[in-house]
Amino acid sequence: MKKFIAAVDQGTTSSRVIIFDELGDMISSHSKEFKQYFPKPGYVLHDAEEIWDSVKLCFDKALKKAQLDVKDITAIGITNQRETTVMWDKKTSKPIYKAIVWQSSQTQEISNELIEAGYQDIFKKKTGLLINPYFSGTKIKWLFDNIKEASNLAKNNNLAFGTIDSWLIWKFTNGKNHITDFSNASRTLIYNIYDLTWDDELLDILNIPKNILPKIVSSSGVNAYTDKEVIGAEIPISGIAGDQQAALFGQTCFDKGEAKNTYGTGCFLLMNTGKTPKLSDSGLLTTIAWSIDEKIEYAIEGSIFVAGSAVQWLRDGLNIVKKASETEDLASKTNSNLGVYFVPAFVGLGTPYWIEEARGSFFGLTRGVTKNHIARATLEAIAYQTKDVINLMEKETGIELKSLKVDGGASQNNFLMQFQADILNNNIKRPKISETTALGACYLAGLGIGLWNKQNLVKMWKIDKEFNPNMKQKERDSLYRNWQRALRACVEFANKENY
Ligand code: ADP
Repeated sequence: MKKFIAAVDQGTTSSRVIIFDELGDMISSHSKEFKQYFPKPGYVLHDAEEIWDSVKLCFDKALKKAQLDVKDITAIGITNQRETTVMWDKKTSKPIYKAIVWQSSQTQEISNELIEAGYQDIFKKKTGLLINPYFSGTKIKWLFDNIKEASNLAKNNNLAFGTIDSWLIWKFTNGKNHITDFSNASRTLIYNIYDLTWDDELLDILNIPKNILPKIVSSSGVNAYTDKEVIGAEIPISGIAGDQQAALFGQTCFDKGEAKNTYGTGCFLLMNTGKTPKLSDSGLLTTIAWSIDEKIEYAIEGSIFVAGSAVQWLRDGLNIVKKASETEDLASKTNSNLGVYFVPAFVGLGTPYWIEEARGSFFGLTRGVTKNHIARATLEAIAYQTKDVINLMEKETGIELKSLKVDGGASQNNFLMQFQADILNNNIKRPKISETTALGACYLAGLGIGLWNKQNLVKMWKIDKEFNPNMKQKERDSLYRNWQRALRACVEFANKENY
């Protein structure tokens, strides 16, 4: 009998369920958007019940499209938007407030207070993260500070905290399992990535009681079974991971030095750093990649604020293209960049500069510059920023980049990918299945029931296109030096005090 795996990919704007077969091929998929709530400036909330409903609907529809019965599903893998925080009453399974989304800055004040009180170092040393509203810790504190029933429920042992994976598993199992995996736990700001425990000292600082926290389980392995009454069968849930870590797994970056970059609105870069966590001094995050067979592997993570969104700006702001993909044609018509560099610092400069006041700038414009060069400079900027982060990763971890796998909307741009390979002087591989997050959840789940081993997965992973570097070192050095000049000039422009 054929075996099928359902991957639940619970994202920030939509939920998706993809059914894979035992060869790791996609059989069917269904996705559903859900509502975003913005009740006050800076607040971003989701309704956890709506999220569950969307997942359940996608699950049913994906089965239907595949013409499968729920009993045909051998295992379920779950991957999720990370850090988003839900708290619910264990007796009624009702959330006590909306889910506070990772993007929500409603805990900026709490974060500032913690930083002012001098706690940045201790949080960083223990969790690999920075005190920032993104991470769950300050969101949990906010819920205790603002939602009256939280404390009482906790006192009576009736309150549960979870990231979205925990919440979905609670619902799938009809309240039998309150668990999360190591990769999700490592994004909460209360989890010690060295001792592998919820950290008492950090919990004390944030005033969070331990009895609300989920049990931590491995990312791959049978950790729970769905409830028959909920979805019609008892199916093992055997894969759990946060979305970026799942994508790293779905790209089979199993070895130290293997990395993936997701080229979306921004970029998310993760590099596998092996068995030891590597701390960064310049804003990269240290995180748990996954735990398999009781063994933890770590990753280092960097993000780029503006990537695909710069291409969107060419489309919607400048009207140079009608579709983002047209930039490939425009850029391919040029023989060189004609000395044009674009620093797309629309919202400031991130890693490793951290200059909020910086703004986007073009350099090197002459009369010969056409929209083709503007498109080229925009795509090149995405590749330069990626190189900046990878250089930093190599420098701070002492681990050399072995290979780069790519995904996300803008990875479809062949000009960008070739330039990325050229400027990095490294091979780039783009997979056939671009849904690497769901694929990772599927791989973890299949591995967790013993359907595959890691070697099988490396073979199953199918390549769409490989890009090999084809640029002289001299040219590479000169381009990258000029990019760095442009960056410095952009920083200088942000620096009003000197003038
Ligand atoms: P997200 O998940 O962040 O919404 P996606 O992975 O869907 O992002 O990618 C969409 C982004 O990628 C958009 O910002 C878009 O401008 C850009 N993009 C999509 N296709 C291309 C392309 N062929 N070339 C360049 N950029 C592209």
